[in-house]
Amino acid sequence: MIRENLSALRDRIWRVCGRTARKPEEITFVAVSKNRSADQIKEVIASGIADIGENRVQEAVLKYNSLAFSRLRWHMIGHLQSNKAKEAVGIFDLIHSLDSLGLAIEIDKQAGKINKIQDVLVEVNVSKESSKFGLKPEETSAFIENIRNLKNIRVKGLMTIAPLSGDPENARPFFSALRELKNKINIAAAQPLTVLSMGMTDDFEVAIEEGSTMVRIGRAVFE
Ligand SMILES: *Cc1c(COP(=O)(O)O)cnc(C)c1O
Repeated sequence: MIRENLSALRDRIWRVCGRTARKPEEITFVAVSKNRSADQIKEVIASGIADIGENRVQEAVLKYNSLAFSRLRWHMIGHLQSNKAKEAVGIFDLIHSLDSLGLAIEIDKQAGKINKIQDVLVEVNVSKESSKFGLKPEETSAFIENIRNLKNIRVKGLMTIAPLSGDPENARPFFSALRELKNKINIAAAQPLTVLSMGMTDDFEVAIEEGSTMVRIGRAVFE
């Protein structure tokens, strides 16, 4: 079933790219495997996926160890506490959820200890829901400027989660706002942001239309 699901998802991504003049190879497909087993992840890998998203460090470390033979890129997509930064830096290729100065300092410190430049995305709470983590859009540019001197962190782009809603069209303004924010930050940036992590099972097509370069998909892969 996972194979069929992935094939259907690839078709849908091709179609939305076709009608929006985007290239499918510009879009990284992250299979979100939280609460799924290592065996299910193996099926995903067998279908050609190399990017795996997890939202809890402990769970990710277990799976990472049991899949250590595979060449995968691991994505931390959930809220990260500073006291888990050491373990996170040890396994994740990209942390999507940088949301505070304290966390940035800790990631930088832990990455420095293992001689790693940790790639991160800044999570932005575009919808300003109190239930969500992430920086306010208007604080994001100054935040990125503030952490520029942390030598073991590299900010690659921005991430957001659209509000839950029955209609993917409702997500569009939040995705376009994140794209505009990235463009605005890039006007002054020495090192331009390239990644926009946005779009999940219910709204990834709209996200791609609005410029997503990384979709994070769980249910549509595994269910
Ligand atoms: C669970 C999760 C996803 C995947 O959600 P689906 O609706 O299952 O596709 C994407 N991003 C984050 C941050 C998540 O926690």
